[in-house]
Amino acid sequence: MAKKSDYYEALGVDRDASAADIKKAFRKLAFKHHPDHNKDHGAEEKFKEISEAYEVLSDPDKRAAYDRFGQAGAQGFGGRGFEGFDFGGFGDIFDAFFGGTSTARRAGPHQGGDLRYSMTISFEDAVFGCEREAEIVRTERCSVCGGTKSERGSQPERCPACNGTGEVRRAQRSIFGQFVNVTACSQCHGEGRIITRPCPHCRGQGRERVIRKISIKVPAGVDGGTQIRLSGEGDAGRSGGSPGNLYITLSVQKHKLFKRDGNDIFYELPINFAQAALGDEVGIPTLDGDSTLKIPAACQTGRIFRLKEKGVPHLRGHGRGDQLVRVHVVTPQSLDTKQKKLFKELAGTLDEAKIPQDNKSFFDKVKDTFGGVP
Ligand SMILES: [Zn+2]
Ligand SMILES: [Zn+2]
Repeated sequence: MAKKSDYYEALGVDRDASAADIKKAFRKLAFKHHPDHNKDHGAEEKFKEISEAYEVLSDPDKRAAYDRFGQAGAQGFGGRGFEGFDFGGFGDIFDAFFGGTSTARRAGPHQGGDLRYSMTISFEDAVFGCEREAEIVRTERCSVCGGTKSERGSQPERCPACNGTGEVRRAQRSIFGQFVNVTACSQCHGEGRIITRPCPHCRGQGRERVIRKISIKVPAGVDGGTQIRLSGEGDAGRSGGSPGNLYITLSVQKHKLFKRDGNDIFYELPINFAQAALGDEVGIPTLDGDSTLKIPAACQTGRIFRLKEKGVPHLRGHGRGDQLVRVHVVTPQSLDTKQKKLFKELAGTLDEAKIPQDNKSFFDKVKDTFGGVP
């Protein structure tokens, strides 16, 4: 909608201006700001604004509603909101006032439609990037007639209905005077030419449906929901219009070891009592292959180690996220006789267990770090 200014102000009239004054003010302003004449920046916006103001103030009911309730009142009136006001047709409103000729509506170039394609890739492919092939069905220019629509060797003829202009002009009278209404010729659909011998391959459409294999480069660091745009790989345009785009939407498979949050990777590391108590050096899977992690002595469940730059590369940027390793001390689930004996011996020497001092922060850490990861 145009700028929310006061409608009276927009037309430069008093609140008690007569219908004739309002019409006069609008004519003057519309002529000044009409986009056909005024190429200034903001002229179009201004034109919409005064048109909207006139639309309301020229209608006694809408004007009364506007005077009482403001813009909201005027819009609710009569069921037609201004969002739906077709300003694409500047010609109509302008010509109604000045008796001119509206812009030609010949069939112009039409951009081809956009295509969408969904693709699922592995966790690793999302992290490091990959190249994939997508098989899509799209409209292309006919391979036989090259889009001319005519059988090879034949030429389209000039449309007799419009004499090749593609438009039909009709003089119309309105309360503001006579104006010429121009519409696209229905015989040739505004093209000015008629195909006498249509191309048999595309039945005169000039386009055909084909299956194409498109190579897609998936950059490193993408995630589920990432969209890749391939410019010009959509449907072919009409009448010389440019082709549409192809949009690839990615989904990413889950990993059996890792979870991902943005550019960070999470890994849960199980260790046994002895490793937790005495410390150890353990093997850790990372995105780049196996690595080792030094577990210090007296390591508690929930301790988190950060492996810098072992996460996901930043999409369109430098550097990588981190890998976060959370230690999980696992209680043995079955012990043989010898192990039971050893544990009993050990138990006699141990003090009563106490929650470690940093346990509170551990809970917070777990919540912060793992809480948001599905
Ligand atoms: Zn053809
Ligand atoms: Zn025609």
